[in-house]
Amino acid sequence: MHEIKDRLKEVKERIRKAALACGRDPLSVKLVAVSKTMPVEKIRCAIEAGVTILGENYVQEARKKIDALSSYPVSWHFIGHLQTNKAKYAVRLFDLIHSVDSEKLAREIDRQAKKANKIQQVLIQVNIGKDPAKSGTAAENTIRLLREICHLENISVQGLMTMPPFFDDPEKVRPYFVAMSELRDQIRQENIPNISMDELSMGMTGDFEVAIECGATLVRIGTAIFGKRN
Ligand SMILES: *Cc1c(COP(=O)(O)O)cnc(C)c1O
Repeated sequence: MHEIKDRLKEVKERIRKAALACGRDPLSVKLVAVSKTMPVEKIRCAIEAGVTILGENYVQEARKKIDALSSYPVSWHFIGHLQTNKAKYAVRLFDLIHSVDSEKLAREIDRQAKKANKIQQVLIQVNIGKDPAKSGTAAENTIRLLREICHLENISVQGLMTMPPFFDDPEKVRPYFVAMSELRDQIRQENIPNISMDELSMGMTGDFEVAIECGATLVRIGTAIFGKRN
């Protein structure tokens, strides 16, 4: 379990270096430790080593872990694909949902958040690589989606998230990260009411340094902290 502590320290140092190297404040990059498939004990180690945000992909799995670790003042983010019929649970469990990609899902989250007396913070997931196997709205439909959901009172859009195509060489991912940053800037210019574009969730174990150079404010890192998943 010392391993998690050592790996976390190394990841944080790499984040700090990557931010400083491009003239950014290291505090402007938040680390989401992706704990999907990891047991409660490993997550506890990560929290005790200083992790403050955990990312989970499956509602059922997360529910048990969040329950078991409820004594820790950490924030849980939902980063997986969210089915409309799970929105109710997601709203109760997560501070930020990274994966809103349709008007239908946004409406259901809004409805459930209203019932729970909560303003649910969300990101819009963009399928920037047009990968048919990935969720996310097409880049060219993002502004339309935002206009459709901006009046929902119990949802608060904080920015964008993406899962670009996978490459061994992180430099090959750079154009997708740049495209996300440009899309964010374009959306800002639209001045859509109630829509904030402060957050850009992108970058994983293999490419987070490039993502930081391209403006990521939330990096979602699993393997580099917890080791390989089974
Ligand atoms: C699993 C996962 C990650 C973390 O991936 P690693 O390569 O292990 O860092 C990040 N984002 C999403 C959406 C994931 O599903």
